[in-house]
Amino acid sequence: MKFKCEICNSEEFITKPNQYDVYKLVDGKLVFQNSELVNEKVTLFCRECSEKMEFEEKELAI
Ligand SMILES: [Zn+2]
Repeated sequence: MKFKCEICNSEEFITKPNQYDVYKLVDGKLVFQNSELVNEKVTLFCRECSEKMEFEEKELAI
C-alpha cells in the first residue's frame, strides 16, 4: 500500500491523546506493555502537518 501523507509526503504518523502506550519498569528498564485505547479505533495524524490519515484496521501491524 501507499501510505504517505498526501499533503506533505511524510511517512511518520502520531497518535492523538486517545491512545496511550504503556511502559512498565522491569529490572531497571522500561518495557512496553500494551497500548490502551480510549476509543477502539486507532487514529493517526501526520507528524508534519497533522493531516488525519485514512486507513483500514487490517493495515495496522500491531
Ligand atoms: Zn502531512
